Amino acid sequence: MTIRRYKPTEMCEVCGSKCCKEIPGTLYPEQVRPLSATTIAEMLRTGQWSIDCWEGDVIPDGGLGHVKYLRPATMTGRNTHFDRSWGGVCVFLGHNSCKLPWDNRPLGCQMLKPGPAPGMCCIPGVEEPKKHGALAWRPHQALLREALMIAEDSEICPACELGE
Ligand code: SF4
Ligand code: SF4
Repeated sequence: MTIRRYKPTEMCEVCGSKCCKEIPGTLYPEQVRPLSATTIAEMLRTGQWSIDCWEGDVIPDGGLGHVKYLRPATMTGRNTHFDRSWGGVCVFLGHNSCKLPWDNRPLGCQMLKPGPAPGMCCIPGVEEPKKHGALAWRPHQALLREALMIAEDSEICPACELGE
């Protein structure tokens, strides 16, 4: 799939960032530089990023119990390294728009195409954005598990109870 990115439009100013109040967009692996467990653990320890997961596998007959991925924390999930709660206001939302420069925003946010009216915005060709992000992270599950253990300073991954 060709990835297209969209800049905010005048509609985004009018709507007041409805999307950012519902669920943060996914940060994709290629946006983490260098892509390492240490880098991600440092991000988690800022309290502004969380590892979330898709329940079950994202590929047919894949066999994973869950698939972890990285996203901004929500206001209520701030400082929660592994946060499975659904939805919430993104920690990077400012007074009326994102505090991050557009180039630094998660790909899951950049891919969202503003529609003609709030609530009519979508990622073209992607039915389930969360699943799309989890698919990108699927090859990096061990790295995310290690990042969680480093961030928690623990030998037990908080996601272990969900199975691999
Ligand atoms: S992408 Fe859509 S929901 Fe998000 S700020 Fe723009 S108009 Fe609002
Ligand atoms: S990172 Fe920015 S654009 Fe993305 S959900 Fe958060 S506030 Fe919105």
